Amino acid sequence: MPDLASYAARPQRSRGRRHSEPPPHGRSEYQRDRDRIIHSTAFRRLEYKTQVFVNHEGDLFRTRLTHSLEVAQIGRSVARNLKVAEDLTEAIALAHDLGHTPFGHTGQDALNACMKPFGGFEHNLQSLRVVDVLEQRYGAFDGLNLTFETREGILKHCSLKTARTLGEVGERFVEKRQPSLEAQIANLADEIAYNNHDLDDGLRSGLLTLEQLSEVRIFARHMRTALKDFPHLNGRRLVHETVRRMIDTLITDLIRQSADNIRKHAPASIEEVRQAPALIAFGEKIRAEQQKLKQFLRLNLYQHYRVARMSAKARRIVADMFHAFLADPHLLPPEFQARAADDTPRAIADYVAGMTDRYAILEHRRLFAIEET
Ligand code: MG
Repeated sequence: MPDLASYAARPQRSRGRRHSEPPPHGRSEYQRDRDRIIHSTAFRRLEYKTQVFVNHEGDLFRTRLTHSLEVAQIGRSVARNLKVAEDLTEAIALAHDLGHTPFGHTGQDALNACMKPFGGFEHNLQSLRVVDVLEQRYGAFDGLNLTFETREGILKHCSLKTARTLGEVGERFVEKRQPSLEAQIANLADEIAYNNHDLDDGLRSGLLTLEQLSEVRIFARHMRTALKDFPHLNGRRLVHETVRRMIDTLITDLIRQSADNIRKHAPASIEEVRQAPALIAFGEKIRAEQQKLKQFLRLNLYQHYRVARMSAKARRIVADMFHAFLADPHLLPPEFQARAADDTPRAIADYVAGMTDRYAILEHRRLFAIEET
């Protein structure tokens, strides 16, 4: 067992699982959570789900699976340096996107719009629903029966109204308290990962150019130092040299600033972490630079007309399917028809959210194309 600080989440002191189980052999409670997540169906499907690019656009782009692995890698580095539970950070990182719809944020927005009259759809809540209810693998319970700390970390944000219906994982939103440091780390590791890989994928796809990026301070600064060390570098290799330096700067800054914050507040336990302000944070300069990068990506990549075209198609696919199933639930596969008996719109949302990009495209064709069966 690595040396954990007093403020770390300790697996022996976990608040436990909803269904009690004998302790695991040869691994900790959080390692067991991580292992259950890796073996889940929803985790395997992350391979064919995307954030920005539709999966069939090319094999070189990040999928939610590779994204989740990058988040876990960054999260573990930070957790180890701050002497908190690496296994818990890893479990949260690997599970954080399990509830995502096909077609990234567009899919989420489209499904949310369809679900508006029926309580809405939110991918964070859906990730929790996947691990609490939808995975059906164990005889004794529905879901994966994860520890409180992993579930708390998966539920990154949530409205007050919903929080009140969620029992113990909702409490912190009502009481305005922080989650564990491990959850805070996974959250910022997510941000580091997607900003950098979206930039990298944006360049690779040709939607972004190096000239455009020279206006983004954090990128320009690191490209300059890369060129100073390797004056003849160009193309993809220059991009990699630059991006890896950016990631290193962000991780180093996050560790330094968070260690400072922890020293200042000196939490003696995880309970004190929950009552303190958010302790995992970037320093002011890097935070501002990250903000600029995000802004740049929003304007130049996420709103690029070619991305907008994909998004428009994705929106149509999700909405068409939702309304077809709502008009006639008998079109649903049998297991979802059984669920639909209790709550038809929620069963449809569960079905659609669980689809991969390519499955959604295929299912849409099966529902609407006259010439095929
Ligand atoms: Mg993510």
